[in-house]
Amino acid sequence: MKALQYRSIGSAPEVVVVPDPEPGPGQVLLKVTAAGVCHSDIAVMSWPAEGFPYELPLTLGHEGVGTVAALGAGVTGVREGDAVAVYGPWGCGSCAKCAEGKENYCLRADELGIRPPGLGAPGSMAEYLLVDDPRHLVPLDGLDPAAAVSLTDAGLTPYHAIKRSLPKLVPGSTAVVIGTGGLGHVAIQLLRAMTPARVVALDVTEEKLRLAREVGAHETVLSDAQAAAKVRELTGGVGAEAVFDFVGAQPTLATAGAVAAVEGDITIVGIGGGTLPVGFGQLPFEVSVSAPYWGTRGELVEVLALARSGAVSVHTETFTLDEAPLAYERLHAGEINGRAVILPHG
Ligand SMILES: [Zn+2]
Ligand SMILES: [Zn+2]
Repeated sequence: MKALQYRSIGSAPEVVVVPDPEPGPGQVLLKVTAAGVCHSDIAVMSWPAEGFPYELPLTLGHEGVGTVAALGAGVTGVREGDAVAVYGPWGCGSCAKCAEGKENYCLRADELGIRPPGLGAPGSMAEYLLVDDPRHLVPLDGLDPAAAVSLTDAGLTPYHAIKRSLPKLVPGSTAVVIGTGGLGHVAIQLLRAMTPARVVALDVTEEKLRLAREVGAHETVLSDAQAAAKVRELTGGVGAEAVFDFVGAQPTLATAGAVAAVEGDITIVGIGGGTLPVGFGQLPFEVSVSAPYWGTRGELVEVLALARSGAVSVHTETFTLDEAPLAYERLHAGEINGRAVILPHG
């Protein structure tokens, strides 16, 4: 089958032919109907050889949906032809965190060598994907594959981040979204669907801010050195009760710290490598800073339910598998508005 692989450190990903995967005991083989292109793959492909955590070549793609093509021995609960979304942050399934559905925080994944598809295990940018257990599959129940696939990360990750701050996002409150790309433009819709907060979106181009307004941002501000002062002004000097930084670079984290309200939440979602000093006097009183990772199995079920209700939709540009390297080039150049999606059989 064809697959998009990152093959050597520093090189561009390539479409290659790899052996057709076959499901072993307990595994499920999916015919991939859509795979999402995520900015974190670009971060992975920029890491140096020293300390690189995964084996190469690596088939990319940690957002995947498909139809069940074959079942390994002993698999029950799904049937051939079922349309499903893949919960990506695989864990052991039985530790204390996994028992709560928080496989993103599995206590034993490292020790057992368990990796998410596309982030260690072969990913979804291929004609077929092996899923290590049927518990990682959530029925699409009518959702369109290309429209739904990015909800498995670009939806689930902001959903998890926003859930933490729901008690603070009361009427009259403000939520700031920094970075309105793949995750951020979904975060704006989630905030509108889940909270009465006023949503202020920040990004570096007018085109991205236009998408932010289209998907529900009340206010948009160009992300530059004056951004924090503008957000303060928009909030009457109070600041934002919740700040979600989908970039995570040094300048955006500085903005996040500067716009947070007293007792506000700052959630660092982007993996831009910046740091935010936390200590007495560094931030407004009692600000809480968190850097979560992905979301829980239960939250993926909730995000898909929200999409079915029509409250959230991902703005997508689709590409064939052969065009996947181009999708990464365009994402890297900042030319994707919303999310790029690969259709391996399209
Ligand atoms: Zn991702
Ligand atoms: Zn576990």
